Amino acid sequence: MGYKRITIIICFLVGFLSNAQDSLSYQSPLDIKLLPSGSFGELRSNHFHAGFDLKTNRQIGKKVYASEKGYVSRIKVKRFGYGKALYIKHPDGKTSVYAHLSKFNPKIQKWIKKYQYQQETYAIQKFPGKNSLPVKKGELIAYSGNSGSSSGPHLHFEIRDEQSRPLNPLHYTFDQLKDDRQPQVKGLYLYPVSNDAHINGSQKRTRIVMRKKNRRTKETNPVEAYGKIGIGINAYDQFGLTVNHVGLYKITTYVNGKKHFQMKFDCFPFSKSRYINRMIDYAFYKENKKRINKLFIQNNNKVPFYTFQDQKGYFLIKHQHDYKLKVVLEDFHGNTKTVEIPIKGNKKSLKKGVNNRKTPYYVKTGEAQMYEEDKIDVYFPKGALYEDQYLDVDFQGETIQLHNYKTPIHKPVTIGFDVSHYSAKDREKLFIARVMPWGSKYYSKTIKEKNRFYTKTKTFGKYTLSSDRVNPTIKPVNFRDNKWMSNYRYLKLKINDEHTGIDTYRATVNGKFILMEYDYKTDTITYDFNDDKFVDGENKLKVVVSDKVGNTAIFEAKINRKN
Ligand SMILES: [Zn+2]
Repeated sequence: MGYKRITIIICFLVGFLSNAQDSLSYQSPLDIKLLPSGSFGELRSNHFHAGFDLKTNRQIGKKVYASEKGYVSRIKVKRFGYGKALYIKHPDGKTSVYAHLSKFNPKIQKWIKKYQYQQETYAIQKFPGKNSLPVKKGELIAYSGNSGSSSGPHLHFEIRDEQSRPLNPLHYTFDQLKDDRQPQVKGLYLYPVSNDAHINGSQKRTRIVMRKKNRRTKETNPVEAYGKIGIGINAYDQFGLTVNHVGLYKITTYVNGKKHFQMKFDCFPFSKSRYINRMIDYAFYKENKKRINKLFIQNNNKVPFYTFQDQKGYFLIKHQHDYKLKVVLEDFHGNTKTVEIPIKGNKKSLKKGVNNRKTPYYVKTGEAQMYEEDKIDVYFPKGALYEDQYLDVDFQGETIQLHNYKTPIHKPVTIGFDVSHYSAKDREKLFIARVMPWGSKYYSKTIKEKNRFYTKTKTFGKYTLSSDRVNPTIKPVNFRDNKWMSNYRYLKLKINDEHTGIDTYRATVNGKFILMEYDYKTDTITYDFNDDKFVDGENKLKVVVSDKVGNTAIFEAKINRKN
């Protein structure tokens, strides 16, 4: 009998109980047809998706409504990430989140602008109290957009529990979402894990061809295997009407008809989201841009979706025993797809020593480790890596090749450079850059101490010192010097910086701060004339933009206006 454990997902249960108590029912935040383009728990880059992405007909400006009654508990405006986001706290303790918005409703807009002007900043975060901005269920709260790190207009919607852990919204809303499409499996892989294990004679991950058995089932030819093995799948689901690939809800494996392993996407704390890089076959993803979900739990994997496991999901295949392995994929609405994998146990004599290449750089996951050559130092905190391993590290003067991009980093690794031989003036323009395989250099957030600059990174690769002596650029978009702009609603400029990117920008009219909203995707900063900061007649506009090493550009123009 193997070791068994059932993880009870407390956040989900608590949320569910309090929901029943207050009998709140969350409505869709949009009044257009519900077309999800992303689902809860979907596998994304370095994280699990925390909510649902809802299509907005490729447009911005769709009305966004409060899903339930409550009050605005948080307003967050950021250049990246969620962009403009609104959080509503509900009487049952849950919070709904609306992100990538284009603007808030006039009342909320006015409330937050006051603070943006007070603090002279676009990026802001505020936590209005219970009585500041109450909302009714179905009240218009905002307009959908494409702000922040969004790759097209849509609404990102979440429901979180009292501890700010995202919950699967399908438990609470979207009843109108009907779905009769089955999950699809694109790839099935078997992993030999123990040293004596093999899959059809191979000691490497092996793709297994599937064929259709019936509408709900796929099957494979019998696989010869031995030892400790695991299953990996590349799979997706679709909602009725949309073409978008979304995540699954439940994945279960069976051996000889007995449940062996299960994962369910109900709830997760943000602190565990990055473990996705341990759950998927990370190297395969980096090489092929496809994610294989490993249906077994390796050490240092704290993904919170595992709800049942025997032998941590691994199978122990014995010589001359037959096994029926089965993977059942299920979406939230109960549509399933099953894959049947017959296994024939067959011990084989294998070539010894799969990979015993050693380097001087051995990093253990349970210990911190530091390496140093004359000008560069590297520090791995405890838990930086998921596995103890030898790394390829090459110190080349002012450049370091730090292993390869196919290995995930969980906790940031510090890379430090000795800059004592640079003059104080040169140091000002100096920064740490990540060098891409094709030669492009990207600014890596550089912390400057007197004789040492350092950066923290979660990406292996090549790092070097570089300098940036080029000023940002500032260009007017919809005006020129001395223009009359009485009939304009917006004032727009493009700001750009080639090497290190824009750090700060500040716009004033007649010496007073004006709020300009920055969209990094279009390099545009925008002022809304309704903010009423221009006087009748001539106005002096000044825009100052600095990059990340402090190169600064100044733009000035006269703008005439009759309000
Ligand atoms: Zn999203």
